[in-house]
Amino acid sequence: MNSTITSKTSSSPLTSPAATILSPCAACKILRRRCSEKCILAPYFPPSEPLKFTTAHRVFGASNIIKLLQELPESQRGDAVSSIVYEANARMRDPVYGCAGAICLLQKQVAELQAQLARSQAELLAVETQRAHLLAVLCMEMASSSSQQLQWADPNPLQSHDFLLDQVDAAHGAMIWEETLWS
Ligand SMILES: [Zn+2]
Repeated sequence: MNSTITSKTSSSPLTSPAATILSPCAACKILRRRCSEKCILAPYFPPSEPLKFTTAHRVFGASNIIKLLQELPESQRGDAVSSIVYEANARMRDPVYGCAGAICLLQKQVAELQAQLARSQAELLAVETQRAHLLAVLCMEMASSSSQQLQWADPNPLQSHDFLLDQVDAAHGAMIWEETLWS
């Protein structure tokens, strides 16, 4: 019983650190150099992701990557490596503009979609205005048809119309009278 327990507890913690020391990081493996414990690239280029370093190395060069990482505090190195790898991948796709090309394309898409949205909002507003107008016309027609039924009770509108016509005739008559006076 005791022997099996001790063998289990002693073997399991020993295997994992031994494995990391034995296999070099992706960078050292590709550069064919010895990966030391203090390898600056090891934390960011694990042996499980060799393509990450291959791309970054092809675009920026290993010595430039190492120099850049040495100039940075350790807390910023992870972000820097992510940025380098992202830019390297973008440069592989677009050697001239790289990341900026992708940003430009996306900004163009945003502008196009914003214009499309503005057009759709204008169309929506036009349709809503038309709907409100049609509703108002419908309401007015309904109101006038109901008032026509009640017109016998309110003769005033006709009276005021006749009064206006009288006013126009009076003004016209005065003009004729003035013309005959001066000719
Ligand atoms: Zn290494």
